[in-house]
Amino acid sequence: MYDLIIRQAKCPDGSLTDIAIRDGKIAATGQLDSGATATHILDLHGQVYASAGWIDSHVHCYIKSPIYHDEPDLIGVASGVTTVVDAGSTGANDVDDFYQLTRAAKTNVLAFLNIARTGIVTQNELADMNQIDKAAVRDAITRNPGFIIGIKARMSSSVVGKNGIKPLERAKAIQQENNDLPLMVHIGNNPPDLDEITDLLTSGDIITHCYNGKPNRILSPEGVLRDSVKRALSRGVLLDVGHGSASFSFEVARLAIAQGIVPHTISSDIYCRNRVTGPVHSLATVMSKFFTVGLSLEQVIECVTCNVADALRLPSKGRLEVGADADLTLFEIQHAPKVFVDSEGQSVTGEQLLVPLAAVVAGVALLTDEGKSNHVFEV
Ligand code: ZN
Ligand code: ZN
Repeated sequence: MYDLIIRQAKCPDGSLTDIAIRDGKIAATGQLDSGATATHILDLHGQVYASAGWIDSHVHCYIKSPIYHDEPDLIGVASGVTTVVDAGSTGANDVDDFYQLTRAAKTNVLAFLNIARTGIVTQNELADMNQIDKAAVRDAITRNPGFIIGIKARMSSSVVGKNGIKPLERAKAIQQENNDLPLMVHIGNNPPDLDEITDLLTSGDIITHCYNGKPNRILSPEGVLRDSVKRALSRGVLLDVGHGSASFSFEVARLAIAQGIVPHTISSDIYCRNRVTGPVHSLATVMSKFFTVGLSLEQVIECVTCNVADALRLPSKGRLEVGADADLTLFEIQHAPKVFVDSEGQSVTGEQLLVPLAAVVAGVALLTDEGKSNHVFEV
């Protein structure tokens, strides 16, 4: 007897599977006995895809943040995303409040802690080195195990002011003193120069906004991958999309991917404004853009499931396997011309749009708006 059985789900590779869930965990996959019973049964008739729950590794959802904020469940389960990871909206001052505020959310909410104790209250949180308080960071991490999964440093000129590379040197020291937690580094306008940033990064560090179109981007003016980024990738540094309002260029993505520089993780950098007015709209929209630059469905799904789980060290997430958390995303692909716009105002017409129909979090299924009007299944 299971809590939920999902029958005949289509996997991203096209194969079919049943998924049985008990006590919030995946209890069985593959072809189940026809006699297997459950409190709820969802038959997808091979018409709806299922994957491990989508994880958005770069969002902003501290509702009290004055600059970038959103409701976790709007960018989470209502959009087919089972886990959102806030990327440094809060620092040591506010992270406990952020934790409390998000306990009622249906979406799993995790956080990168900003190394600046104020988080992103103003646009230049690292312009004053006194904002980086090692002891406060350590205490915040100790108080919030399992919630703070990494640290964040925003390394662009508007954020660091006259401090150049210094905040990143401090971030690396903080990382070493805190069990080598994942470090996410935002890149943008220089100074500091991208070469200086990447030379400091080591295996497992994450560069977000990897396909931004600003002059300090990963490609040389000739469109070739910078040597410093090449060296960083060979050391095991990871690339995260972090689309956002100003940080995704179709041209950069296309040129990079043509050189084999695929993203490790696809994230949205979503918050209220770029969700409502674009160009982000949703994680599914950002994922769909990658079909137009040459990624397959399996690659796109890996970028929001197992790749994120590995990068953020979330061993119970990201894979549809027995014993894993019963977090799933059910979705379909609409095949029709669709115009996508990047952060540079450039548009590309794609042929495929990912449409999430339901998010399953710890075994509980929640329909999206599109899921409520689909004709395949009900919850
Ligand atoms: Zn950023
Ligand atoms: Zn961001």
